[in-house]
Amino acid sequence: MSGYERLALHTFTNKPWSITECVEAYARRGIGGISIWRETVEGEDLCAVRKLVADAGLEGVSLVRGGFFTGKSAGERQRALEENRQALREAEALGLPSIVLVCGATVGQNPGENYAQIRDGIGALADEAEGLGVRLLVEPLHPVYAGNRSAICSLRMANDLCAELNHGNVGVAFDVYHVWWEHDLAAQIERCAAGGWLDTYHLCDFKPEQEDPLQDRGIMGEGCVDLAGIEEMMRGAGFDGFHEVEIFSKKWWGRDQNEFLDAILAAYDEHYTEK
Ligand code: ZN
Repeated sequence: MSGYERLALHTFTNKPWSITECVEAYARRGIGGISIWRETVEGEDLCAVRKLVADAGLEGVSLVRGGFFTGKSAGERQRALEENRQALREAEALGLPSIVLVCGATVGQNPGENYAQIRDGIGALADEAEGLGVRLLVEPLHPVYAGNRSAICSLRMANDLCAELNHGNVGVAFDVYHVWWEHDLAAQIERCAAGGWLDTYHLCDFKPEQEDPLQDRGIMGEGCVDLAGIEEMMRGAGFDGFHEVEIFSKKWWGRDQNEFLDAILAAYDEHYTEK
């Protein structure tokens, strides 16, 4: 036993690597799961990737990512749905049971307009996705991205959206980076679990001083997130899925990816492995 059976890596964490390099490196270290970014498998034979992942003994968690449902015209929103349908077919081909949705926000629309378009977009796809065996996971993003990435910017709002949609095939991708600051986080995690929406759990850390608003995320322990407190809330709510490490870091992408993975595993050992 490596101790990493319940650890999964997002392929974008090791952005410089191909899918083959990711799979080989994760399997070699005894990591149990993988979430696959569309960027990593662009142009690849998805059936071959599915076989590669299965043969390596890795469990697929999510395809990352779909979403971006908002748009000023009906035509734009329709194109967004088509792009999501393509992503759903990819998830099905890869044998991945869920897709992470970065829901979208359009400059010039108010939060309420964005919310309504997101709700309608997810609502339009939920049955089709279910038919393909792919769950739709709303990932609330930190409010710093509310302008152009997602109008769903707290776990509370993601829960509200799931409650309003009330569809058995829609849940939440929980990421500590985005929701650590919420004062009612424990209550919202409980609510999320009680609704049957607490699907997946992404890890990194939030550095109070960031050099880049997107690509300077910390390894667990490098920032200000109360990782132990959130872990307790997640376990208390009955979450027993993968710990998925998802770190965008220009700094680390410029270095040897095996060293990066070693640093991630050392942090994981420190914060998540039961001693
Ligand atoms: Zn995430």
